[in-house]
Amino acid sequence: MTPDLLLLEGVSHLGQRVENDGVTIVATANIMPPENCPSCGCKPLYKHGSRVYSYADTPLYGKPVRVEIERQRYRCKVCGKVETPNIPSLDDKRVATKRLIGLIQSRCFKYTFTALSEETGLVVNTVKSIALDYLEWLDENHERETPRIMGLDEVKVGGSYRAVVTNLEMRTVFEMYERRTKQHMIEFFKNLKDKERVEWVALDMWGPFKIVLEQELPNARLVIDRYHVIEKASRALDQLRINIQSQLEKSDRIRLKKGLRWGLLRRNEKRTEADDEKLELIRQDYPKLALAYDLAEEFHSIYEIDGRANAEAEFSRWLNSIPPEFMPYFGEVGAMVNRHHQNIFNYFDFPITNAYTEAKNGITKLNNRMGRGYSYEIIRARLLYAKVSSQAGRVITHTGTPKSITDPVSAWGNAKVSDYGRYISNFGDD
Ligand SMILES: [Zn+2]
Repeated sequence: MTPDLLLLEGVSHLGQRVENDGVTIVATANIMPPENCPSCGCKPLYKHGSRVYSYADTPLYGKPVRVEIERQRYRCKVCGKVETPNIPSLDDKRVATKRLIGLIQSRCFKYTFTALSEETGLVVNTVKSIALDYLEWLDENHERETPRIMGLDEVKVGGSYRAVVTNLEMRTVFEMYERRTKQHMIEFFKNLKDKERVEWVALDMWGPFKIVLEQELPNARLVIDRYHVIEKASRALDQLRINIQSQLEKSDRIRLKKGLRWGLLRRNEKRTEADDEKLELIRQDYPKLALAYDLAEEFHSIYEIDGRANAEAEFSRWLNSIPPEFMPYFGEVGAMVNRHHQNIFNYFDFPITNAYTEAKNGITKLNNRMGRGYSYEIIRARLLYAKVSSQAGRVITHTGTPKSITDPVSAWGNAKVSDYGRYISNFGDD
């Protein structure tokens, strides 16, 4: 007897037709009927004709596959109920083999639904509903550890701002939340398990975050991300540059806008020699702008200062040094710092920054690769679960003490697997 390469439990292979648009496998069920009637418990059951059902299966020879299975039906003479014995390898709800469902689950957050539909012959909506069911299952079965040091930020995905929650200690993504409104954030933090574990949160200045965190995580300390603080000063400088520019003659205006501007913008390791040369020209020709540049740099360098009290003192000095003509620009930066004083200077007690730039870049990359038309749910799923099988972000710790000093850590006590979510640096890589 030739081996049955269909390898589908409860089904025997009879033959196949290979056509241009797909493969049809002809098969028959080989399941024993139940001994008693499942409805009334009487026996025996009698054969009651058979029907052919067509199930979608995993692709063969690069083509979609249908398995046509003849299934024997049985009838109970006592209660009249007609029964088709269940075949464990088939999913009757989707009219597909369970292994095909498994294949789609393993790929649905990595490839487009259209590509999977073409590969398997299932309609796009079926692929999508398999993916959404799987997502629900994943959410119920992959609880991630609540971060001790949390990052909270907003990223624009699919046309709306979403809250992105990261684990800064593990550099993983903990959750992406549909909306960042106060109401949605309260809902999220109210239902957050082990929320007493959160000790520090790095966040931006989005108003509701602060209100909600103070209400829902009263013991966590907040740090406004330095990137967001510094950005305000850079923006003030740029506004001032635009204002000065608008008062110039056309050729000067273009010179400043197209060329020299870059001497003001780039900072730190991104700064080139050419940027410094441009800044020298600005010092010569637009001294007022150069003064504003220095003021912004002084503000930035507050973050290099050791000790909270020193930094607070330097900020006061800086605020008082703003020339009156710059107040419409830099005065607002100072007011913003005063509004968030406590949480901005908490940085000097615990210097964390949220993973904003990293997370934003990764999500943007992911978003671009997926293309348009994906719902928030699917982008979130892809972000959180595309690498679920590769165990990214899972850490195995061992409790107990070694019997001997030479024991490897992996031999201590009981192993505990903690899932922290995906590494942020992997966001765009799948
Ligand atoms: Zn019966």
